[in-house]
Amino acid sequence: MEAVVYQGEHEVAVEEVDEPAIEHPNDVVIDITTSCICGSDLHMYEGRTAAEEGIVFGHENMGIVEEVGDGVSTLEEGDRIVLPFNVACGFCENCENGKTGFCTNVNPGFAGGAYGYVAMGPYKGGQAEKLRVPYADFNALTLPEEGNEDSFALLADIFPTGWHGTRLADLQPGESVAIYGAGPVGLMAAYSAKIQGASEIYSVDRVPSRLELAEEHCAATPINFEEGDPVEQIKEIHGSGVDKGVDAVGYQAVDPDKEADDAYDPARESPANVLNNLIRTVRPTGQLGIVGLYVPDDPGAPDEMAAEGRLGIDFGLLFEKGQKLGTGQCDVKSYNRQLRDLIIEDRADPSFLVSHRVGLDEAPEMYERFDNREEGVTKVLLEP
Ligand code: NAD
Ligand code: ZN
Repeated sequence: MEAVVYQGEHEVAVEEVDEPAIEHPNDVVIDITTSCICGSDLHMYEGRTAAEEGIVFGHENMGIVEEVGDGVSTLEEGDRIVLPFNVACGFCENCENGKTGFCTNVNPGFAGGAYGYVAMGPYKGGQAEKLRVPYADFNALTLPEEGNEDSFALLADIFPTGWHGTRLADLQPGESVAIYGAGPVGLMAAYSAKIQGASEIYSVDRVPSRLELAEEHCAATPINFEEGDPVEQIKEIHGSGVDKGVDAVGYQAVDPDKEADDAYDPARESPANVLNNLIRTVRPTGQLGIVGLYVPDDPGAPDEMAAEGRLGIDFGLLFEKGQKLGTGQCDVKSYNRQLRDLIIEDRADPSFLVSHRVGLDEAPEMYERFDNREEGVTKVLLEP
């Protein structure tokens, strides 16, 4: 079958790979109908990780059950399902508590498993014609036979992850919130804030087409950080600190004063330091939800990678303001059923985010354009 295979820094190719098969009675194999390209794939694509050449990408997967393992009891051939990007067992201590993003069984020695992702277990990605799904009864979310193709595809990761950002920040109806990043995750956080009843939403980015989506679909006030300190811009409108804040950027934050290529500067003075901007933007005793990705400070990693985990954050200011902070991978399963039902009942329609739906053969070009944060390239869905 064909799959999107990593070739090394800034390069993927569509290649023939072996078809997956049932390896354990709890598995199913699905025919992929949609697998999305994610900002998280870009960390590997840009060569910032230890991802090895030859791995198949794709953790945002949806498809039709094609083959069912003997131990699977709730799924049948022909079922349409969407899969959390997390691979989770369902019975470890964390899964039992709903923390499926931190399953300790699927990937010993590391918190959490995922499809097609470096360090997150042996699971192949779904940017391919077929995918093996472990612990299928637990992981699969069934969908109506047809309809809402774009919205349902976003249930694998970014709609729940955006929602998770607002929950980590404990956003309440009537509160104000600032969301750093208006990429797919930031836009889903802003959209979640809107449907949860936030009174004011500030979306910070520098890509005009993304800020326009935030304004048009998420009722957000766009803040372009290239036009000046975003914290000052928000305070000028809001008057004081906002109640809550979400980081949907992560360690790869761009510094407008630097070249795009070596953008990240962990120094505390950096105007691009999203965590410090959040601490400054949010009022004393407010709460921050960090869903943008940060990597551990691994002493064995190359210098530039180690530095990405070692942030210059103004902990003193966080302490002085008595703010709370929540972070980590999204436990997609905690939210996807409810978000699916909001979509089915027409109470939520995140499909405005989808800018491209293309065949696998266009993956190399779309990776490059999404990586450049090209105007109008917001969320790319691959359809084998
Ligand atoms: P993306 O890279 O497309 O979006 C990031 C956005 O941040 C871009 O639009 C960029 O212009 C903007 N940005 C860059 N520097 C900024 C700065 N200094 N201030 C404000 N905005 C800035 O990717 P995405 O798909 O939206 O993902 C965003 C982050 O979320 C990534 O780090 C990704 O790995 C992470 N993520 C986390 C989870 C999770 O479970 N926690 C799940 C999915 C993605
Ligand atoms: Zn993703």
